[in-house]
Amino acid sequence: MLVVMQAQATEEQVRAVCQKIESFGYRAHSMPGAQRTAIGITGNKGEVECGTLEEMPGVQEVIRVTKPYKLVSRDTKPDTTIIKFPAIHANGPPVTIGGTDLAIIAGPCAIENRDQAFQVAERVVRAGAQFFRGGAYKPRTSPYSFQGMGEEGLQIMAEVRDRFGLLIVTEAVDYESLDLVDKYADVIQIGARNMQNFSLLKRAGRARKPVLLKRGISATLEEFLMAAEYIMSEGNYNVVLCERGVRTFADHTRNTLDLSVVPAVQRLSHLPIIVDPSHGTGKRNKVTPLSRAAVAVGADGLIVEVHHDPDRALSDGMQSLYPDQFDALMVQVRQIAAVVGRVVPETALAGVSRLSNS
Ligand code: PEP
Ligand code: MN
Repeated sequence: MLVVMQAQATEEQVRAVCQKIESFGYRAHSMPGAQRTAIGITGNKGEVECGTLEEMPGVQEVIRVTKPYKLVSRDTKPDTTIIKFPAIHANGPPVTIGGTDLAIIAGPCAIENRDQAFQVAERVVRAGAQFFRGGAYKPRTSPYSFQGMGEEGLQIMAEVRDRFGLLIVTEAVDYESLDLVDKYADVIQIGARNMQNFSLLKRAGRARKPVLLKRGISATLEEFLMAAEYIMSEGNYNVVLCERGVRTFADHTRNTLDLSVVPAVQRLSHLPIIVDPSHGTGKRNKVTPLSRAAVAVGADGLIVEVHHDPDRALSDGMQSLYPDQFDALMVQVRQIAAVVGRVVPETALAGVSRLSNS
């Protein structure tokens, strides 16, 4: 059920409706929008007795949500969610995901050491990224492959954040790493392999930081949205969806990047959706063309693997761009962004003069 408040409803009236819902033993999720606030109701086993709610001051209507996902749905919140991050450095404008600005997340697959992280970070911030990615906990297919540096890797990323003004995106693979990622990073990544790890999703829903949720390797759109619903149902409404390719019969790429899911998500959900052309293709020579396509199709951002020495990378070197290739990609991304009414914000470019002046 969804309680739609009148455009002029006061905060007090919204609060009273939430209290009433909670007095029934349900959970109320107040979702303020540009036009009006909607309050999602979860925790109900069957029909909610809504007569009393309808009569409350400030309430416009109470509607049944027929889709399995409720909080994720555009029916609940018609305007696209814009996630705002406070500026890292004084005077820097805030960074957003989901608005006109394209979110550019770049960095190595895994943090390998401080020098590697700093070399890559310096290049991606100069090229225009606002976020730095890097895994400290790596879900690898083989137990013998590099598993990540753990907390030390998170500490290196925290240093990258301070030095370059980049917001940090990194993956949590279990409860323990999620708590640490929540402490050090700006965005908690939930990887494709954990998209249906429901207890981890709920835990991410109780975390303070926004969550970047990657689509499972064979997840349908509905399963993808339901995974986001798990996070939101626990009270964390800052979820970014990420298309990273699904497994198909095709063998010319590692995965098949399903760009059609971007407009499909945008039709059904208010959550921002970004694209990962690195895992989506698995091949360096396909990352730039698919990044261009992702921006053209209307994605809210990109997450791209970049390494200063991909041949010696400890993971995913084959799909990592050289920094020069990332520079060239960003030039193209800016041009395509303009065609679809988006911009790559200059926030990070401000970092260029800051770095060269220091
Ligand atoms: C990653 O981003 O490094 C990663 C492991 O991604 P995915 O979960 O999409 O495979
Ligand atoms: Mn990777």
